Amino acid sequence: MSGKHVEVLILGAGAAGIAAAERLHRLGVPFTVLEARDRLGGRALTDYALAPDLPLELGAQMVHGRRVVTHRWAHEVGLTTRSWPVSQRALFSMNRRLCRFPWLAIPGYPGFGFRAFYEGIHTLPRQLRAAAPPDRSLAEFLQERAPTLGGRRFVELLHAHVYAADPEEIGVRGPAEEERRAGEEFGYRNYRLNEGYSELFRRRAAPFLDRIKTGVRITSIRQSSQGVRVEAGTGAGNAATAFNARAAIVTLPLGVLKEGSVVFDPALPPAKQTAIHRIASGMGYALQFRLSGGDLKERFGDFSLVWGGGSTTFHRPAVRQHAPPEVMTAFTVGREAKRRATLSREDRLEATLAELSEVLPSNARIGTVVRHSVHLWPEDPFARGAYSFLPTGVDPIERETLAQPVDGVLFFAGEATHWSGESATVHGAIATGYRAAEEVWGSLAAGRRTAPAG
Ligand SMILES: Cc1cc2nc3c(=O)[nH]c(=O)nc-3n(C[C@H](O)[C@H](O)[C@H](O)COP(=O)(O)OP(=O)(O)OC[C@H]3O[C@@H](n4cnc5c(N)ncnc54)[C@H](O)[C@@H]3O)c2cc1C
Repeated sequence: MSGKHVEVLILGAGAAGIAAAERLHRLGVPFTVLEARDRLGGRALTDYALAPDLPLELGAQMVHGRRVVTHRWAHEVGLTTRSWPVSQRALFSMNRRLCRFPWLAIPGYPGFGFRAFYEGIHTLPRQLRAAAPPDRSLAEFLQERAPTLGGRRFVELLHAHVYAADPEEIGVRGPAEEERRAGEEFGYRNYRLNEGYSELFRRRAAPFLDRIKTGVRITSIRQSSQGVRVEAGTGAGNAATAFNARAAIVTLPLGVLKEGSVVFDPALPPAKQTAIHRIASGMGYALQFRLSGGDLKERFGDFSLVWGGGSTTFHRPAVRQHAPPEVMTAFTVGREAKRRATLSREDRLEATLAELSEVLPSNARIGTVVRHSVHLWPEDPFARGAYSFLPTGVDPIERETLAQPVDGVLFFAGEATHWSGESATVHGAIATGYRAAEEVWGSLAAGRRTAPAG
């Protein structure tokens, strides 16, 4: 097994890998992308079959904010985005009563009223941003502050769904520091890709498709004086193959690095191993289901989201669409997502519908589920989780450590390596791909400058 020789290897063809490839392509650096799956996009994956004319996202759902690179990526390849008023058209459920977002402030609304509303959207977030050491979990923090029930539920649910984790796991100071570093207020204005994320990655990769090898499962990454040697299995029989390169960009998800299914030889530096261990991998999945015969839209209008229950929020992706098929997205996170990922398909759907009926008034009609579709990221061997977050006592500096190159040969990208507040997103992953490609380019250029003549 001597191996093929290339200048740079990019390991993984998700958002970070495709961004890195695009940048190296533009810089004229020869590269090859190795990807285990038979498709591009990694944790962005669209279902085109469940509902007519409505691509549904099984991984990344939204484009966050107006300024992020994902809009430019979409528009440059002829795709479109639509505003998705997720917070503005949200319904909050308390004791099976549903209330529209701003009306929660009305005095006397059960469990809510002005104090709870103000606590949920202003006081508690401000206190979280200002929290002094020592760090504690979000759950401990909320216990100390003893807010109203409504204020606490609001903050717990928002954090659980942003970080795909339970309040007992999420830290206070690390996420607050990341929020300070973030370029745009997170989560307020959201958009959807009309043609779906999968189409975005197909079109972005089209100019260099011949340099992407799919169905190549990397098993080891070995450094040598010549550069890097990547060993992999290909095809159904997983016949071993090897690739040699001067440098490699590793975009493997944090969950895969944690699991150790890809061997680094020599082992990664201790500080990087610690970072892999300390940054957490959030658990979550989006179960899409198509309904018929219900009365939710007639009763509650063009709502975008129902939340207030336990581990699941229910989104309506068809909001603002003319005569859309009735579809709901159940976004389940944390321990419950990990547990339900192991259930049978039927039991998982049943648990989801039971949770939905718990947040709706008892006389609301959900209708019958015609079809459903899901991708279980916690069980996926090439993801092992949804996206990364900082648990109690972990600082964003760990992300900087994870991103550090090793010996000018191994470079690191992927959402978990974004240290300025945009981790866990597609646009954050794209930014890390660009960053790593430029680091490689700089390193190769420096090598050429110092190489002896002749
Ligand atoms: C349910 C869910 C909802 C989300 N919602 C949003 C959202 O609304 N907005 C948003 O911006 N982001 C969202 N995200 C996060 C977003 O999807 C990720 O941050 C982003 O896609 C990560 O890109 P990446 O390139 O870092 O990793 P990945 O996309 O995971 O790419 C890594 C690649 O490496 C490959 N790989 C893994 N192991 C091997 C191996 N051994 N050999 C070869 N290849 C391998 C994988 O197959 C994958 O293609 C969501 C994610 C999930 C799961």
